[in-house]
Amino acid sequence: SEERSLNFIEEIVEEDLASGKHGGRVLTRFPPEPNGYLHIGHAKAICLNFGLAKNYSGKTNLRFDDTNPTKEETEYVDSIKEDVKWLGFDWANELYASDYFDKLYEFAVALIQKGLAYVDDSSSEEIAAQKGTPTTAGTPNQYRERTVEENLQLFADMKAGKYADGERVLRAKIDLASPNMLLRDPLIYRIKHATHHRTGDAWCIYPMYDFAHGQSDAIEEITHSICTLEFVPHRDLYNLFIEKLELFPSKQYEFARLNITYTVMSKRKLLQLVEDKYVDGWDDPRMSTISGLRRRGYTPASIREFCERIGVAKRENMIDFSLLEFCIREDLNKTAWRRMAVLDPIKMIITNYPEGQIETLHGDNNPEVEGGEGGRDIPFSNELWIEREDFMEEPPKKFFRLGVGLSVRLKHAYIVKCEDFKKDADGNVTEIYCTYIPESKSGNDTSGINVKGTIHWVSVPHAKTAEVRLYDRLFKVEDPSNEEGDFKDYINPDSLQILPAAYVEPDLANAETGRGYQFIRKGYFTLDKLSTDEKLVFNRTVTLKDGWKA
Ligand code: ATP
Ligand code: MG
Ligand code: MG
Repeated sequence: SEERSLNFIEEIVEEDLASGKHGGRVLTRFPPEPNGYLHIGHAKAICLNFGLAKNYSGKTNLRFDDTNPTKEETEYVDSIKEDVKWLGFDWANELYASDYFDKLYEFAVALIQKGLAYVDDSSSEEIAAQKGTPTTAGTPNQYRERTVEENLQLFADMKAGKYADGERVLRAKIDLASPNMLLRDPLIYRIKHATHHRTGDAWCIYPMYDFAHGQSDAIEEITHSICTLEFVPHRDLYNLFIEKLELFPSKQYEFARLNITYTVMSKRKLLQLVEDKYVDGWDDPRMSTISGLRRRGYTPASIREFCERIGVAKRENMIDFSLLEFCIREDLNKTAWRRMAVLDPIKMIITNYPEGQIETLHGDNNPEVEGGEGGRDIPFSNELWIEREDFMEEPPKKFFRLGVGLSVRLKHAYIVKCEDFKKDADGNVTEIYCTYIPESKSGNDTSGINVKGTIHWVSVPHAKTAEVRLYDRLFKVEDPSNEEGDFKDYINPDSLQILPAAYVEPDLANAETGRGYQFIRKGYFTLDKLSTDEKLVFNRTVTLKDGWKA
């Protein structure tokens, strides 16, 4: 890739390497909570963490941040692993915060023993009220002065299941007057009688994020713990627990989360779209999920390129969806195999081509590559499907397609001249009649005739029927999360258009999942997972040009 200046995280890593901190070692982690499928924002974090490790001869752990039993599922764990691998990254270790439950419990006991944590019997409302406001200090309650022995006993009882959810919590004893509200004796353990996706019913108390994340980093000896800006106020707690527990000094660094126009990017919101059936699952091609983008036909390289181009920002911003489209278009222009497909068909009859005669023409798979990456046979006959929009009853000047008296080249085949057409009782054009010029065959044209337009086509007796799905933005507004009311009120009702009966050239019966196809003049497409031998289904990944208007 091109030379670019270092981003601020790379600068930190280089300084640390130069000063010999951590003995020249770089270990990052990607820490998803398995409570949903990954989205393109996560791809940014993945590229950043794995990319840093790669550039500085380091490693990256995949750590599932699974401390909330009620929202986490194995299905999500599996999908996350699949997505990270698909993006092209290998983790050094597959780890789970839940593997540290014993250690984290011991850390909590150690804090109690140091007089730095206490069991509080107050309700969550009482605790919130006692915390004060940003301008007024909080007020200590009677539980804050419990003895170490009493706290140890109560915490053991919490663990043993003596209490119901919410009856007691363990809090760190820090500073009820701190300007950072998160330091006002934060909750570090809560009671939750729930089955965990890995530890089952072994625990009924679970650590809070702030009591799990930093310590997990420290246990793994992570050198650079990269997270998004909303964790800036958590950094004091991150450092404080590491210091008080005398753990490995991992450090947290924050960057701006990725936001993209016309979409939402929070697992909670994406889950609503799935549960309320606005979309066809987490991998619906309109979703901002990695699995959705994959099904839509995005390639790992295009997503990595997108993440590289947007860089690493320190301030929140909004990236235009069309940049993502630009990246996939660039990639597919180089890699997609060219094919012909007629999305809105109308029949053309070549009146001077012998009925029943079949000719086999040839087209390269990829003209962008030397040698064409092989090719395929394209059958030609006297009846062809062409695109309805390539014919006009009364063509204006400079319409370089078909109308009576006008000529075009049929891609890979001959020049044809339109002689006549037929209409039904409602005035709809049903057939177009042409003559072809036998000496004008592509690659061997001795006709001396020049035409301006070239159109695509598919031979009627050879065509395969396909369902083609065209997608538009899932939302009508740039930032649906920032509008009045519910974000779902801003869903674009026309985000999916299904063409039930397009005609595609016969070789597309051999289309492979995961390969990009350029349907000539129509865009980039890929085979959908619902496609069968009986019924081909294609998704449009992106149009050929950025033709989208607000
Ligand atoms: P969500 O709101 O979508 O659930 P999250 O931050 O709670 O996001 P996690 O599973 O905790 O999701 O995220 C794993 C990692 O990915 C975290 O380090 C998080 O900061 C990062 N991440 C999540 N969303 C984005 C985003 N939009 N841009 C960049 N990084 C992100
Ligand atoms: Mg999170
Ligand atoms: Mg979350």
